[in-house]
Amino acid sequence: MSKNDAKTADIGSEKGLKRRDFIKKATTTTLAATAVAASSFPKPSLSQGRMKWRMQTTWPKNFPGLGTGANKLAEFIGRASDGKLTVEVFGGGEIVPAFETMDAVSSGTIEMGHGAPYYWKGKVAATQFIASIPFGLNALEQNSWLQFGGGQELADKVYLELGCKFFASGNTGVQGGGWFNKEINSLEDYKGLKMRIPGLGGEVVKAAGGNVVNLPGGEIPPALSSGAIDATEWVGPYNDLAFGLYKSAKFYYFPGWHEPATLLDNFINLKAWDGLSDDLKAIIETANSYANSYVINEFVANNNASLDTLVNKHGVVVKKFPDPVLDGLGALAGKVIGDLAAADPLSKEVLVSIAKFRKQSIAYAKFSEQAFYNARGLPFKWVDL
Ligand code: CA
Repeated sequence: MSKNDAKTADIGSEKGLKRRDFIKKATTTTLAATAVAASSFPKPSLSQGRMKWRMQTTWPKNFPGLGTGANKLAEFIGRASDGKLTVEVFGGGEIVPAFETMDAVSSGTIEMGHGAPYYWKGKVAATQFIASIPFGLNALEQNSWLQFGGGQELADKVYLELGCKFFASGNTGVQGGGWFNKEINSLEDYKGLKMRIPGLGGEVVKAAGGNVVNLPGGEIPPALSSGAIDATEWVGPYNDLAFGLYKSAKFYYFPGWHEPATLLDNFINLKAWDGLSDDLKAIIETANSYANSYVINEFVANNNASLDTLVNKHGVVVKKFPDPVLDGLGALAGKVIGDLAAADPLSKEVLVSIAKFRKQSIAYAKFSEQAFYNARGLPFKWVDL
């Protein structure tokens, strides 16, 4: 930490001192007058204490959808706070290696990080259940669970173990199934397959006999092109096109059963968070709410066009995982997820909550979105403009 950072990190206590000075002076008046003054007098100005925080993302700097979402988050905080709190954004590796971002935030080296919860499963296993669950909730359902199903409280409990405050700060929606150089016709085809696939999906592929590795985004294209890995998933058409994954793999499979909706996490060093005034806390909450919708909207808007480019410009062969493969992966997912949750009480608490929400979501989706998608996909002629 530089001298300047040490200075900004002390601002919370500096403000506290000023407030104490004010209360000390006020004791010369009557108790009643003090109460009135304390409630009506403007809080001490932060003009001498403008805070500058640093946020490292796990993503390459300005990466479409993921990095740009983090940029929007930082921009919003600076603008809404009128510069009281500015957040400088660093790409993965600019301060510490991408996967050490959480260590840097937990230890207070930097105040904020932006990534995906499953990157921290080695530290706190339950984070992978917050990120995305194979055959679990979609983005709409996941956000509903966070806001109304007790999810935010559970995620905060999980991130407390990391010394951080948690915010959902973006969502990819359902991802692509991955890039393969050989066809997946049965579960047997996963045996010995060296695949980059993180989180619980990776555990499922491992259970199917795959040789699973995890790599930060920036390391995927060279690993696939050099043959260090046979297959990879990344995000979806928008990001996968940007990485040029089509140059090194023949088949693009769907759907992304392993990540039906991966949320991005904004994690804040708990001491830094606790030291904020209420207005700045509210601004950060709102900024994350904004980033959360901004990111998924960016994905929806760009995935359509990117899939079209991949298929019609680059000749990518798009293939659906056969239903028996999906059925087999679903059964393996249930076993793997259940075993992991049984071994860790915090993971189990999260999974029990999500499983309850999922059960109702499945019933309601058949009545709503799923039924509508089926209806919209019928081969009638619609407007032709
Ligand atoms: Ca992914």
